[in-house]
Amino acid sequence: MPRMAGLTAGVDLGGTKIQAVVLRNRATVGSSRVPTPQGGADDVIAAIVQAVRDSLSQAGAAAKDLRGVGIGTPGEIDADRGEVSLASNVPGFVDPPVPLGPQVSRKLGRAPVHIDNDVRVAILGEFKRGAGRPYRNFLGVFVGTGVGGGLILDGKLREGRGAAGEIGHAVVKDGGRECSCGRHGCLEAYAGRGRMEVRARELVRKGRKTDLFRIMEKKGRTRLASGVWEEALEKKDKMAEELVDEADRGRPRRSPGNVLRRPGREGHGAAPVRAGAPTDDPDHGAGRLLGRRGRGGAGRRLSGSAGRRLAGFRATGP
Ligand SMILES: [Zn+2]
Repeated sequence: MPRMAGLTAGVDLGGTKIQAVVLRNRATVGSSRVPTPQGGADDVIAAIVQAVRDSLSQAGAAAKDLRGVGIGTPGEIDADRGEVSLASNVPGFVDPPVPLGPQVSRKLGRAPVHIDNDVRVAILGEFKRGAGRPYRNFLGVFVGTGVGGGLILDGKLREGRGAAGEIGHAVVKDGGRECSCGRHGCLEAYAGRGRMEVRARELVRKGRKTDLFRIMEKKGRTRLASGVWEEALEKKDKMAEELVDEADRGRPRRSPGNVLRRPGREGHGAAPVRAGAPTDDPDHGAGRLLGRRGRGGAGRRLSGSAGRRLAGFRATGP
């Protein structure tokens, strides 16, 4: 009998951090979190491999015990080739495509490596193990620097023409604010933290007052992270409230609820849940914000009614 049967590793590759976990029989037995190297693709790959090795050694195991590795990464994915491109936040992962899967595999004893887009795998995770478990149909929405989304219909994560459920680039205001994708009026241009920060800086240049950037510096941050917005809202900072209200107004009135809601099932408001590690408790999951029926009080990371409304997407029942 093999000494370490069934060890699998999962890696979340992000622009600022790399998080790895090792699982044995669905239980986390090792984990490692390191800052994403800013030098280039080779450094990033080396850091991923090291994070997996560190997690393995916590579990008293080594690369030869790995049955498989799954990596969630931003950007465009060629799953067959294991390549990533256009991940603008990860150094060296824009163009040409990086053969992330094959390289990590080679450095981890030829363990099979599967890669996919980070939002898609997070939504799959919520569907199988997290907040999405009670449902056959739901829209997962991740609000961060941008707004990512994915659609599960009839128990299957949809691809559509390649962007099913990508609600962040649904146009919510004709000719509206410029989006990171170059178009105007996308939801992400209002509700994504990246564009909210651009807007805040614009307003400060025009002479408006806000505590947002003072709070940012006090927290030792260089960007308006979630915690910065949270504190500003707690202190009732006018500009922060205004921008969150704008984000709320940008929320599509027709898209998610009406696409998913069955006739005769009006009124199932869904409180979103904020995510943690995979768990059996459906109140916690690997996503960040996901519609879930019938529970109040979520969205409390952004306090006050603006925060609750910002987070108020809907999902249908099972
Ligand atoms: Zn866009």
